Amino acid sequence: MSGGECVKVCVRCRPLNSKEKGDNRSTILEVDQKTGLVTLHNPKGDEPPKNFTFDISFDWNVTQKEVYDIVARPIVNSVADGYNGTIFAYGQTGTGKTHTMEGAPTPELQGIIPNCFDHVFEIVNSSAGTKQWMVRASYLEIYNEEVRDLLSKDPKSKLELKEHKEGGVYVKGLNAFVVKGVPELKNVLEVGRKNRSVGATAMNQDSSRSHSIFTITIETIENTQAQPDGHIRVGKLNLVDLAGSERQDKTGATGDRLKEATKINLSLSALGNVISALVDGKSGHVPYRDSKLTRLLQDSLGGNTKTIMCANMGPADWNYDETLSTLRYANRAK
Ligand code: ADP
Ligand code: MG
Repeated sequence: MSGGECVKVCVRCRPLNSKEKGDNRSTILEVDQKTGLVTLHNPKGDEPPKNFTFDISFDWNVTQKEVYDIVARPIVNSVADGYNGTIFAYGQTGTGKTHTMEGAPTPELQGIIPNCFDHVFEIVNSSAGTKQWMVRASYLEIYNEEVRDLLSKDPKSKLELKEHKEGGVYVKGLNAFVVKGVPELKNVLEVGRKNRSVGATAMNQDSSRSHSIFTITIETIENTQAQPDGHIRVGKLNLVDLAGSERQDKTGATGDRLKEATKINLSLSALGNVISALVDGKSGHVPYRDSKLTRLLQDSLGGNTKTIMCANMGPADWNYDETLSTLRYANRAK
């Protein structure tokens, strides 16, 4: 097997929303969860349906808990063992990226990020006798190819990417808070989320114009005689809500918005190129350096890390072009 073992692609289709129902929109997607087969019908009916198969395909009935158990749980378990892992939510604005990653603040509707919080501290608390743990959290966004610390007092200031002598990439000056439990993690998420939405009044849907990365770092050291050398394991989990993938010709962007859209398209295609090079496994060169996003996540993509790309879609006919483009993106990443 190639690097594809460690890179998985999942698609998730949200339900028709009330506006779409009110407008009598038809559903043009079929999802077979058993086989992973997704069929997209052209609403104009002038070409045969298009079929795609993914590692995991979810329809509109899937619960947040099922998504967590299938998509995230194995990755979090391996992060607790000292490996890195990354979960991406991809898709056009309004398809459910933030629903998948954050969800709503109830136990049934909470998304991958808060479910990770619960899971991480279940692991910590269940082995507190045999291991010492340190959990840290940081939260940043990449906007117009600039890195911003969402936990900073000055969240709009630019941070630099730096390289360690041994080669690892890090963000200079990024805050990382040590957290002792789920409430503290939720607080960190909330603080960062508020900083993301500061720009939302000036610029509609500002948050969907940036990539946000919530990172949980887990350090463990065994208390037992098994590891008397006090070997420390460090695993890093990156939870990424990507900028909306909608095409710029549809949004009618000009000026600053066009500049943003161009940067977003560049970084999403750079990510697609990295993932397909990793999955392919044959090409020696993985183009990490082509975007801030892929440079920053270099040590959490490929090698012995686990990555999952979760592509989100809407089921309605008016989204045909965007849905096809999302399916193609996800298909390339397999
Ligand atoms: P995005 O972050 O991709 O722009 P959101 O996550 O904000 O999209 O979703 C848009 C709207 O659709 C939100 O009101 C959200 O609650 C709803 N939604 C998205 N996915 C689902 C789903 N699987 N089930 C129910 N509602 C959903
Ligand atoms: Mg969103």
